[in-house]
Amino acid sequence: MDTQSTLNQLLRHTDHPGQSKKVAYENMATRLSWLRVLPNNNKTIKKWTWRYIQSVYRGTIQPSPALVQAIETLAAELDGTPAQYSNAKEIKLFADPARIQAGSLILGTSKECAKATCILTFVPTVPWGLYCPKHKRKR
Ligand SMILES: [Zn+2]
Repeated sequence: MDTQSTLNQLLRHTDHPGQSKKVAYENMATRLSWLRVLPNNNKTIKKWTWRYIQSVYRGTIQPSPALVQAIETLAAELDGTPAQYSNAKEIKLFADPARIQAGSLILGTSKECAKATCILTFVPTVPWGLYCPKHKRKR
């Protein structure tokens, strides 16, 4: 199946009654941005916009390789076969047990804090997060 058809299926699968198309595209952009594979621990990640998702949905823009991969990953997860498990290994992490359950599959990507003097590596709560919790408000 081509990427556009897969995206159409994903949008139908995650559709809520009464939800506007724009909100549906925004939610899909957020979900797919989470699955974005970053080259070289890139710190300048941008969230995909709802207009980009809409344009791919309508076929007016060809999806980037990164978006194709994210769409296929999300489709596999909704299918019940988490594609990300193929690369998953049990590793040591530091997490708040009230928020992260043991055995959880982490889909985010580790980043180094954007503060030059900070040595912390973290998984941001949003894909475009740049700073660790300590430096978040001290930009
Ligand atoms: Zn930091």
